Amino acid sequence: MIAADVELKSVVHWIHGKSVTSVSGRSGIVWNPATGEASARVAFASDEEVDAAVAAAKAAFPEWRATPLARRAEIMFRFRELVDAHRQQLAELISLEHGKTVADAMGEVARGVENIEFACGIPNLLKGGFSEQASRGIDVYNIRQPLGVVAGITPFNFPAMVPLWMFPNALACGNTFILKPSEKDPSASLLLADLLKRAGVPDGVFNIVQGDRAAVDRLLAHPDIKAISFVGSTPVARSIYETGTRNGKRVQALGGAKNHMLVLPDADIGMAADAAVSAAFGSAGERCMAISVVVAIDSVADSLISAIGERMAKIKVGPGLEAGNDMGPLITGEHRDRVASYMDSAAEEGATVTFDGRTHPAAAGKGFFLGTSLIDNVKTDMKCYKDEIFGPVLEVMRVNTYQEALGVINNNPFANGTAIFTRDGGVARQFQFDVEVGMVGINVPIPVPVSYYSFGGWKASLFGDLHMYGPEGVQFYTRGKVVTSRWPDPATSSVNLGFPQNR
Ligand code: NAD
Repeated sequence: MIAADVELKSVVHWIHGKSVTSVSGRSGIVWNPATGEASARVAFASDEEVDAAVAAAKAAFPEWRATPLARRAEIMFRFRELVDAHRQQLAELISLEHGKTVADAMGEVARGVENIEFACGIPNLLKGGFSEQASRGIDVYNIRQPLGVVAGITPFNFPAMVPLWMFPNALACGNTFILKPSEKDPSASLLLADLLKRAGVPDGVFNIVQGDRAAVDRLLAHPDIKAISFVGSTPVARSIYETGTRNGKRVQALGGAKNHMLVLPDADIGMAADAAVSAAFGSAGERCMAISVVVAIDSVADSLISAIGERMAKIKVGPGLEAGNDMGPLITGEHRDRVASYMDSAAEEGATVTFDGRTHPAAAGKGFFLGTSLIDNVKTDMKCYKDEIFGPVLEVMRVNTYQEALGVINNNPFANGTAIFTRDGGVARQFQFDVEVGMVGINVPIPVPVSYYSFGGWKASLFGDLHMYGPEGVQFYTRGKVVTSRWPDPATSSVNLGFPQNR
């Protein structure tokens, strides 16, 4: 709902170190999901506005690339201190536009800070190898150099953390950056831009274009953009990968997920229930690493569901900005309704809707709330299983054996994260060996790698060759060069038409 007499805050672009009001004439509404009211109007960039950001980044690249590593690291250290000092402000901004609880948003910021800390180590991370006397009098060494202007396109569910997966490494490696944040919760990106400037990042090195698909299309087509990092839903990730690579760009495009948690009969049922509830309903299930399906060996399914149900009943649903709430609203009313529709389709297809979040009192209010839901007896051919629901809905699939469970997980087209709960180290190790998924938790339900590893799924959860952040992030944002060098006495020089070989 948009109150007629309220002047909405404008969310603008950030180009060449300052806020730039859009003249495109196109914009969108940013909602406050807890109240169902509009909180801001976000600019949608035109081609000319995207081009202006790219031009600023291109102009800033030569000087930034030549800036000593120690200086780039020093700026990252300062940025880390500034973000640290603004954790609360960032978390509240995220909560206002996304809806997640402030405590959860603080967790998001903390994981983002880890990525800045990783980038502070760039002098060490960019060290090459050196082979002295590879041949007589010849040394060979490799170096990694930045790509130029690179872009990041980010989803609504982590408006600070996902951009921080990308630009600290990209900038530390010497690239200049264009961020296209989600139009659903764009304000956190502007606070990060301001902190970067205060940390000493020169104007033009980091830019933001707000917008929708039109801005993304222009970035994909722009000849001066050398690489694109994307995080979002699978259909968009696939199309961005295909278009971007066709246009000659390096692309890493992370997509959607359907994460299974396998519970074996020897697992601690209380611990497994704690983990399933935390990982399914945290951030209202709007996490790409949320557990969406518990695969339970049938003999423990009833006791596990009963333990999960007890915990679900205690979850406090309410505005994320109000202390004491465990789960906030969904991002938009449209998305809430889409998530709710799976209760009907699941029942029609023969599953059992054990808990229906639509009956929660909060779901009747103005905000985009839905209570927690549990769907039992889910089968692989049901719509609720095949689709990524991306909401507070936990599905339970009953199987008879470990092999059957493994088959279910490995046959799913998504392969972002998975977890196994067991007390048997041998079976857990076998699962780690067998499972065809990019990130695996052993008694850990949300195995998001720490910043000095890299994040990425397999199959329809990632298009591209390199995972995001960590060492693979540094690889993504640089290209290798190998130098073969000698300093001979000119008197020993002669013509030799043979192919160079070791002597
Ligand atoms: P989305 O795909 O709708 O949007 C992501 C970004 O792409 C946004 O910036 C949006 O403006 C832009 N976009 C949307 N449609 C586009 C189009 N047709 N062409 C070009 N650009 C377009 O995703 P979302 O709803 O913001 O985020 C939720 C999705 O992101 C879920 O599927 C979730 O699993 C996924 N996700 C994945 C990861 C991961 O690491 N694999 C992490 C977070 C979120």
